[in-house]
Amino acid sequence: MIKSQYGWDGYPRFKLPGIVDFCSALLPPEHGGPDPKLLGELVEKYASCLPTPARHGLRVALGAITAGTYGKLRSSDPDTRVKALNRLQGFGGGQALDAVKTVVLLVSGSDRNAQDILTRSNINPPARPDPHLDITPSLEWSSISYFDAVVIGSGAGGAMVARSLARSGMNVVVVEEGARHSVEEFRSHHPLRRWADLYRDAGATAALGIPPIVLPIGRGVGGTTLVNSGTCYRPPAKVLKRWRDESHLELADPDFLNPLVDDVWSTLEIGPVDLSVMGNNGLTALAGAKELGWAHGPLNRNAPGCGGCCQCAIGCPRNAKFGVHLNALPQACEAGAKILSHARVTKILTEGGRATGILASRENGSHLEIRAPIVVVCAGATETPPLLRRSHLGHHPRLGKNLALHPAIGISGRFSQDITAWQGVLQSASVEEFHDSDGILIEATSTPPGMGSMILPGFGRSLIDEISRSNTLCTLGAMIGDDGSGTVVGSRSPIITYNLKRHDGARLVKSIWVMGKVLFASGAHEVLTGIPSHQVVKSVAELEEATSNANYKKLHVAAFHPTGTCAGGGDPSTHPADPYGSLRGVMGVWIADASLIPSCPEVNPQVSIMALAQGVAIKILDNA
Ligand SMILES: Cc1cc2nc3c(=O)[nH]c(=O)nc-3n(C[C@H](O)[C@H](O)[C@H](O)COP(=O)(O)OP(=O)(O)OC[C@H]3O[C@@H](n4cnc5c(N)ncnc54)[C@H](O)[C@@H]3O)c2cc1C
Ligand code: SF4
Repeated sequence: MIKSQYGWDGYPRFKLPGIVDFCSALLPPEHGGPDPKLLGELVEKYASCLPTPARHGLRVALGAITAGTYGKLRSSDPDTRVKALNRLQGFGGGQALDAVKTVVLLVSGSDRNAQDILTRSNINPPARPDPHLDITPSLEWSSISYFDAVVIGSGAGGAMVARSLARSGMNVVVVEEGARHSVEEFRSHHPLRRWADLYRDAGATAALGIPPIVLPIGRGVGGTTLVNSGTCYRPPAKVLKRWRDESHLELADPDFLNPLVDDVWSTLEIGPVDLSVMGNNGLTALAGAKELGWAHGPLNRNAPGCGGCCQCAIGCPRNAKFGVHLNALPQACEAGAKILSHARVTKILTEGGRATGILASRENGSHLEIRAPIVVVCAGATETPPLLRRSHLGHHPRLGKNLALHPAIGISGRFSQDITAWQGVLQSASVEEFHDSDGILIEATSTPPGMGSMILPGFGRSLIDEISRSNTLCTLGAMIGDDGSGTVVGSRSPIITYNLKRHDGARLVKSIWVMGKVLFASGAHEVLTGIPSHQVVKSVAELEEATSNANYKKLHVAAFHPTGTCAGGGDPSTHPADPYGSLRGVMGVWIADASLIPSCPEVNPQVSIMALAQGVAIKILDNA
């Protein structure tokens, strides 16, 4: 444990009674697990970063585990402790156990590997320095200021729209709730702290439903592009056709959008992953797909100078991953835009049916006002609807509805040779055989070292054994194009709900079969399926049996691409925004983020979002 280093010292602890006993049962020190007291302390520090409901949920789950194991977790015999956890799992305690296990393994894995992660972060100098940004923290910003346009949110959409407007000569300010993060932080801070700092709610966002879906969202100057995997796809032709012909989103017309996609492609310096840095995880996936004769290839990424250190999800320590904080935002500033950080927009101001500006709160609770006739909302698909409701602009019945998530699932294959999935590019290669036919997109994806051990089955000695052999695992992820069956409700901290439709669940199960086939074809001798009733399968026949009986409601699902909550399109009763991104029912408020996308993008969406945002900017200028 290196718990007191790298900046965790000042963090308070949120008391979690029973955490030390749980840690000693989950990862017994007798079998090589970490000191449960130190681990418990670090879990409590991480818990202090979580939003109130999540940390209380954790406390409740631990309470249920303590009560359900009748004091057995205090036994001095590690086998007795593990038996108690296994018994509880058998008697319906699976959800509470999963919740606490996930957090403890995230904390212990990142701490166990912290030194290695930081060493690898510093092997090479940054590919480029942090650029100059005209940025002011909110405490230093005046209480009232005047601009031509305010852009809310500095992520994929916000950065692009700000750049276009500033380049046209508008006086633009980008207002961002999060902080600016430097490459130096990514080279020196504890990985868990990077995780807690870079994600909204310290990464604990989830969509409630059956199954619940983990939904991490970035927060900071650069938005989610700070933490994304850098995978880039052009919007597929059939998706653009659907958006244009069925939703009547005029911005999606290929003749209009494709030149903007080209511009994003060159701004982000997108190119295929070089096989020399890809790493074994991607190479193994490519070999399996090749063996099967399935469509495959290196992914396109916006990461010029990538050294394959597998840390994209906690901030690139080389400044190689070319998030918008490294290109569109500095370019916007060069054209005169300003960035206001640490300012949460609480309300969009209107008078007589027209935008007049925004109100934002500073970290100390004080408020500032920015007056502007144009307000562009780019707060992301989960934050845009509550902001519009807070602003009394949330009357449209479909606002917050139509949430598509592009749900994802991960599995691993065990090989006899070393794979060390985390030495190489975090997301590196694709298998697209079932993309057109079933909407299943497979991408070879690892996590930063140790930060993916929560997918490993079991408790105690067997879990420690799994962790110690995790270098022999190849990990794949699959995403499925889904129906927009989720909602974002509320006007402050949003509540996200999502019930996976039966046919989407069936395709998630099919994707386990697809990934398992790739892994076996590339030489895996067993596959960790993530299916509770068949955790490990040792042949394609066993894989088929496992997937034919799997209940999608019991899978561990995550999602990274929420879209559609303020959809743009031609039908006033279906689309809160018009075909060009203007919010219906008010003048001067525009939507230019993932919420504008009318249905699941079916590929990693950052390029689509950025191109559409540029399209919205063109329409704003046409209207100005
Ligand atoms: C782990 C992960 C990996 C991903 N990998 C990929 C990938 O490889 N390829 C890909 O294409 N996509 C990927 N994505 C998704 C992609 O990054 C997002 O779809 C995209 O960034 C969304 O753009 P946006 O502009 O809608 O929102 P964001 O980029 O999330 O930006 C929204 C910004 O608004 C700010 N904000 C919110 N509310 C307020 C407020 N009230 N006041 C002020 N500011 C506010 C937020 O703090 C945030 O910075 C990934 C996502 C995640 C979580
Ligand atoms: S793998 Fe990701 S974090 Fe590492 S250098 Fe490449 S882009 Fe950066």
